Amino acid sequence: MTSDDEQGESGLTTPNGCRWCGLGEREHYRRWKPPVGWHHWTPPTDDQRKERMQARRRHVEGPHDVDDRYLLCG
Ligand SMILES: [Zn+2]
Repeated sequence: MTSDDEQGESGLTTPNGCRWCGLGEREHYRRWKPPVGWHHWTPPTDDQRKERMQARRRHVEGPHDVDDRYLLCG
């Protein structure tokens, strides 16, 4: 079993991941995900790509803030 290197590293969705479930095309095959059910990899919309790239950038810039707060609360 191969680990999903694109999602596994940070838990973030890959920018080019499936429109429905966010999984990369390479490792997608067939997936079940509500509300679409069984589906093949579908290209994300431009907005989805943009959002994911922004989320990834935010994560890279400020992971320590988030982590520290999480630890304090935990
Ligand atoms: Zn999918």
